[in-house]
Amino acid sequence: MKIGIISDIHSNYEAINSVLKNMKEADKFLCLGDIVGYGADPNCCIEKIIDLNCKCIGGNHDFTVAGKLDINYFNYTARVAIFWTSLQLKKENLNFLVNLEKKIELEENVIAVHGSPQNPLLEYILDKDTASLIFSKFNFKICFVGHSHLAGCFSFNENNNQIDYINLSNGGSIEIIKNKRYIINCGSVGQPRDGNPQASYGIYDLKYNAVNIYRVSYPVNLTQDKIINAGLPRSLADRLSYGR
Ligand code: ZN
Repeated sequence: MKIGIISDIHSNYEAINSVLKNMKEADKFLCLGDIVGYGADPNCCIEKIIDLNCKCIGGNHDFTVAGKLDINYFNYTARVAIFWTSLQLKKENLNFLVNLEKKIELEENVIAVHGSPQNPLLEYILDKDTASLIFSKFNFKICFVGHSHLAGCFSFNENNNQIDYINLSNGGSIEIIKNKRYIINCGSVGQPRDGNPQASYGIYDLKYNAVNIYRVSYPVNLTQDKIINAGLPRSLADRLSYGR
């Protein structure tokens, strides 16, 4: 069994399209939220996820467009995109966002949240101190997260209490072993911020007990033209060139 893991698509249709074409090996999918926000194709991206018929949780952008989170948590550029998105959405697609959960259990001891288990919509797990707190407060073997748009993995070694971080911005493989616990971010499909502009995704291979992170190119220019033509802030197009 292989589970394809996607997160932070952010209305980038070209990116999700390229990613799904490269995920033919996946038997099923898990989506970690922020389907919308920033980009110009919110309806097409939500419809892609509906078609996958997969487990999906909501992110801070999805919840805000759905009217369930205060827009003042966001900076000006993000607010413009959220407002724009809410004017574009078809009723059935908005309904899909309204019904998204904040947290799911994929299997025993494997959980998925957008930000962190203690604050699913808003907290970023960016450093070992935060990761340490999460490992001590919550009892999971693997916690899949999104939100930071940085592909990487925190691991906790139960033998010596050591926490390590591996940067996975160029892809890579994490072996799931006994006596270790993991917080894994498979990166962002539609707006990477780890310095690699390629779309990021993961495959959780249950047979071989590994999570593999891959990067894939997509026609960035096309996505950028759509953002500019939609009248969205220019910076949202520019940053896709750099993966920042
Ligand atoms: Zn996001």
